[in-house]
Order: sequence, then structure tokens, then C-alpha cells
Amino acid sequence: MPRKTPPPLKIAFFDAKPYDRRFFDAANRKFGFEIIYFESKLNRMSARMAEGCDAVCVFVNDTVDAAVIDELVKAGVRFVALRCAGYNNVNLAYAYGKLLVTRVPGYSPYAVAEYALAMLLTLDRQIHRAYTRVRDNNFSINGLLGFDLRNKTIGIIGTGRIGGVFANLLTGFGVNLIGYDSHPNAELAERCGLRYVTLEEMFKTSDAISLHCPLTPDNLHLIDERAIGMMKRGVFIINTSRGKLIDTRALIEGLKNGTIGAAGLDVYEEESDYFFEDLSNQAVYDDQLARLLTFPNVLVTSHQAFFTREAMTNIAAVTLQNLDDCAENRELANGICTHCDGSRECPGKTRPCRGGL
Ligand code: NAD
Repeated sequence: MPRKTPPPLKIAFFDAKPYDRRFFDAANRKFGFEIIYFESKLNRMSARMAEGCDAVCVFVNDTVDAAVIDELVKAGVRFVALRCAGYNNVNLAYAYGKLLVTRVPGYSPYAVAEYALAMLLTLDRQIHRAYTRVRDNNFSINGLLGFDLRNKTIGIIGTGRIGGVFANLLTGFGVNLIGYDSHPNAELAERCGLRYVTLEEMFKTSDAISLHCPLTPDNLHLIDERAIGMMKRGVFIINTSRGKLIDTRALIEGLKNGTIGAAGLDVYEEESDYFFEDLSNQAVYDDQLARLLTFPNVLVTSHQAFFTREAMTNIAAVTLQNLDDCAENRELANGICTHCDGSRECPGKTRPCRGGL
């Protein structure tokens, strides 16, 4: 009897957009998985749609909490493949021993770092305002005065892959670079002329602060009323990391009283109901988001810092490779569990990380 070939891995792909299909279908030519694309986000209601699938593929605004994990396990799912770097939306402690979770770290730190720099320069030189003015035949430059970045103090919170590239890009601008990280990187500091400081010193001395750390239970609302109270008048805040790092209410107060000179937000605390969707036919019911959109010195974009050809190509290839490694019981390069973030020295029961399975 000829041996039967096993059926291809079946993947329920949540929050699918046309660009996801384009890059994942191309990457899947190498693997031949069965990918079922769902437009809806993964949540308690939609989890059942994964019935009979081996894996789910999820993005930043899908929910993988305890209730969803229970539903997924009931549906027969074994693997959760995040097609992003951050994993704050997954209850890793609850998933431990039930589901293998993988992510895509560092798919293109350049995409996000270059975008953060673009936001900083756009806000400084008010290019977003100049663009709309000129299109309205208003060629006045009144009110568009910026400043040279040279000799300004730029604070970077989180000097990992993205923060590191951001620091490197800024070395060409002649700025004074300061950094804060729970794990300082001496080599980066030396190479980029970056000085590690306390958070307090960063808040007190920076002309602009860019956030590049993950969201964890310890740093929820890292930028709050107290932090903003310490900042230099006119400071710029750039957030391409996660929305909940900033207390939006405090940010709005800071913008109103002039402490915050400008804010570049590619992420927002309550973005999941809005970002990535075309809602141009309806009102914004989130009053804080609506308020943010009224400030001329606030640039809000819809979590697009990652969105380059190179990043999408890497995301698709690595996500599917992660799933192949899960299915074939190979060593997981990008497994994450409650004990580790994909480090091969997972201190959990399994080493390298197999998420307790
Ligand atoms: P990374 O793991 O390479 O670096 C994160 C750095 O933050 C590490 O050096 C770590 O030590 C440090 N850190 C952790 N907790 C900290 C804390 N409480 N305070 C200060 N530093 C802390 O991650 P990365 O690839 O550079 O990505 C950073 C974050 O960027 C991700 O977690 C994700 O939230 C966000 N991101 C956003 C987008 C986007 O499209 N907007 C895309 C990719 C990643």
C-alpha cells in the first residue's frame, strides 16, 4: 500500500486584508498550506470559525485571551502564529502547555525606525500641514516654522532592534542621543554615541522622545500625567510601538497646555475598532481619538509603520516557516511562551522553547 501523504496544514487566517493575501499566497507557494482567510478579527465569537484548523494566524488587534484559547483548543487548533513582533494581545501564561505560539521578531526594524523618523521630521517641519495648504492654493508659510534637529536631545525608550536602527539613523543628524532600556546595549551606545539615562532624566531633558519598547504589564501608561509633568515644554512624542504605552487623556491635557509640542502616533490605546478599516462613511465615536484628530500638531496614522514591501515579504515567509517548524516538531526559532520571548535559552520546562508542549 502506498503511504498516504498527510493533508496540508490548515490555517485560519484572521483579520485578513487584500495585502495579506497577496504576500501570504506568494510565500505559501513554498509550503502548500491550506489558508482560509477571514476578514473578521479573532475574538470569543469568531474563534469557532477555526473549527478543524491546525493553526490560527493573527495580527496586532486580534484577541488571544483565556476564553479564546479555550475555544481554539476545543476547535482542535494547536498553533498560534502571530504575524507581528509584539505579543501583548496573547495570554501567554494561559496558552502555556495548550498552544504553541510563534511570532515574527525583527522582520524589518528599518520599516518602523524609518517611519518614526519620518513622523518626527514631518511634525517638526509641518509637512502634513504644508501639503494640505498648497493643495488649497494657500502658499503662505506663516505658522510653519520648524527647528533644526541638529544639537537637539532625542530620547529613545527601548533600544532593541527598532530603537537601535532609529538611533543609527539619527547619527547623521548631529543630535544628542539618550536612551533608556531595561537591558542597555553597550555596543549600540558606543557605535551611535548614545548615552543611557534614567527615565526621569530622559523626561526632563529630551526635545523629542520616541517609544520603541514592547507593551508589558509594567509599562502600561509609561507616558502618563506624572511623566508629562516632568517634560520640557514643547517636547515631541513619537509612538510607533503600542498605544497603551501612553495615557491618551494625559497626552491630550499635555497638548492643550502646550507641554507637548507635537505627537506622532502610529498606534493608539483603543485602536482596534478603527485602525486598518475604511470608516469614512461614519463618525468617530471615540471621543479621545476624535479630540486627537483636531490638533494640527498631532499626526495619527493607522498602525502602518511596518508596512513596506520588504517587511510584508519577511512577515509572510517567517510566519509560514514558523508554522512549518511547529508542524514538523522542529526547533522553534521564534516560539514564545510565558517564560521567554523566543530566546533559544527558554528557562521554561522546554529548551529551546516549545511553549510547555
Ligand atoms: P526588541 O525586542 O528588539 O526591542 C525592545 C527593547 O525594549 C529591548 O531592548 C528591551 O530590553 C526593551 N524593553 C523591554 N521592556 C522595556 C521597558 N519596560 N522599558 C524600556 N525598555 C524596555 O523589539 P523591536 O523589534 O525593536 O520592537 C519594539 C516594539 O515595536 C514591539 O514590541 C512592537 O510593540 C512595536 N512594533 C510596532 C510596529 C508598527 O507597525 N507600528 C511594528 C513592529 C513592532
